[in-house]
Amino acid sequence: MIFKTRGENDELELFQFLRVRKKLEIEEENNFTYLEKGWLGEKQFDNMLLDLPNECLILNNLLLKVNNTFFQIDSLLLTQKKINIFEVKNYEGDYFFKNDRLHMISGKEIKNPHIQITRSESLFRQLLQELRFNIAVESQVIFINPEFYLYEAPVNAPFVFHAQLGRFLKNLNETVSASTISGSHMRFAEKLASLHITQNPYSRLPAYTYEELEKGIVCRGGCGCLDLEDSNRHTLICKKCGFVEGKESAILRSIEEFRFLFPEKRITVDVIYNWCKVIKSKKIIQKLLSKNFDLVLFGRGSYYVDKMKK
Ligand SMILES: [Zn+2]
Repeated sequence: MIFKTRGENDELELFQFLRVRKKLEIEEENNFTYLEKGWLGEKQFDNMLLDLPNECLILNNLLLKVNNTFFQIDSLLLTQKKINIFEVKNYEGDYFFKNDRLHMISGKEIKNPHIQITRSESLFRQLLQELRFNIAVESQVIFINPEFYLYEAPVNAPFVFHAQLGRFLKNLNETVSASTISGSHMRFAEKLASLHITQNPYSRLPAYTYEELEKGIVCRGGCGCLDLEDSNRHTLICKKCGFVEGKESAILRSIEEFRFLFPEKRITVDVIYNWCKVIKSKKIIQKLLSKNFDLVLFGRGSYYVDKMKK
């Protein structure tokens, strides 16, 4: 069973919001593509693990720290006698292995995931010692993409290629079927989940300011543009793809986006009016804010906050 879900990827979400409203640098755009692809691969692997029997605990996306060193685990599977840690790679295309290094066919060297997982495994063992939980640990790199090919793949590396995944999962299935999860496993999983660090110290987020971002409401119809038209009382229509959305939900979405991007800024009618840009009537925004938020009276600087729970 899933003990800790992968959750949302704030980093990816930030990129998704920003790239509609700002031209990203090439390096940022590459970083986004890499993150998005990796995330998709991890989600795919999550789905595969869902078919395992219940006598296991799955913890997805753990960022942990031991002796002041951070390490990340894409997926962790806890069974009665063993912990598997998985590093999922969604690489695509032809690669080759030479002198313990991984290269794209163009020659460009990329991080060797074997080294990466060996490091994570070693740090994880240290953490186990600290927590005084004695259990065998095994790690694997999962190459999830069927379009990935590795020339000169080392036979003894802990790699699982797409063509091997079916058999690999079948073996896991047998291990889990023979396993029994006890209270101490549950407590250990709880402890691990509680140690997960939410703020990723490695994230390289693009810098941005309110002023430089293009304003408007993002179309939800899949085209993702900002070209919505307010020509109707209750709905907005996308000039590009024709998608129609209720005005209220579109504005609320934009408020959430604004809060995500600018958690330190105060929400006022004027701010949201400027941010949404396409909404003609300030009144609608004011009504919506009053309905969904509490007003903090502060003269001309009155602003809205989350509703107090009653
Ligand atoms: Zn559209």
